[in-house]
Amino acid sequence: MVTRALDVVLLGPPGAGKGTQAKRLAAAYELLHLSTGDMLRDEVARGTELGREAESYMKRGELVPDELVGKMLLARLHSQQAAAGCAFDGYPRNTEQAKLLDGLLAELNRRVDIVLYLNVPDEALLARLTGRRSCPACGAVYHVASHPPRTEGVCDACGGALVQRPDDREEVIRERLRVYHEATSPLLSYYQARGALREVPGTGSQDEVFELLRQAMRSSRA
Ligand code: AMP
Repeated sequence: MVTRALDVVLLGPPGAGKGTQAKRLAAAYELLHLSTGDMLRDEVARGTELGREAESYMKRGELVPDELVGKMLLARLHSQQAAAGCAFDGYPRNTEQAKLLDGLLAELNRRVDIVLYLNVPDEALLARLTGRRSCPACGAVYHVASHPPRTEGVCDACGGALVQRPDDREEVIRERLRVYHEATSPLLSYYQARGALREVPGTGSQDEVFELLRQAMRSSRA
C-alpha cells in the first residue's frame, strides 16, 4: 500500500511551543521536523553567506527575506527525509511564504493537510520567552521557572552549556510579537478559508498540549 505524505504546519506566536510540539509530532507521526528558525541559526553558527545575511534580521526580530528562506526550504523539502511529510515549524511566516509552500508542495503532488494553531495570549508569551534557555549542542529547550534543568545552566540530555537565544531579550521579543501580529496572523484566515485550520489552546503543560494536538490530528484525518 502506498501511503500519502502528511504535511502539517504549526502556527502560533513566538513562544507558543511550536518547536517543542513539532519535534514530538514529527517523532510520533514519522515526519521531518522542519524548523526554519533552527536552520537559520545553524547557518549563522556555521558562518555561511546565508547565515551572515540572515543574522542582522534575526538580531532585530525581523523576518529574514522570503527569497533566502525559500531557497533553504526548497533544498530540505526535496530531500529523502522529507518524502513521508513534514512538520513545518516557523514556516510559513507570511502570505507570500504560504503561497510559495503551496506551490512547492503541489510540485510534489502534496499539499498542506493540517494547520495546527497554538493559541497563547501575548501576556504569557513574554514570560515564557525571557525564561527560555536552550542547548546549542542537542537542541533541548528549558525554562528557568516551568521546566528547569536538574543543574542550573547544564543540559540534562547531553551536559552542554545552556544559552539564552540573543533574540529572546525583551525588546527583541516585543518586535517579534509585533511582526507576528502584522505578518503571520493573517495566515489564520488563509488556512481557515480552506478548512485546514485546527485551533488548540497552547497554555497547558507540554503533555496536555501534545494530547490536544493528537486529538486535532485524529479528527482531521478521520
Ligand atoms: P524562530 O526560531 O522560528 O522563532 O525564528 C527565529 C528568527 O528566524 C525569526 O525571528 C526570523 O528572524 C527568522 N525566521 C525564522 N523562520 C523564518 C521565516 N519563515 N521567514 C523569515 N524569517 C524567519
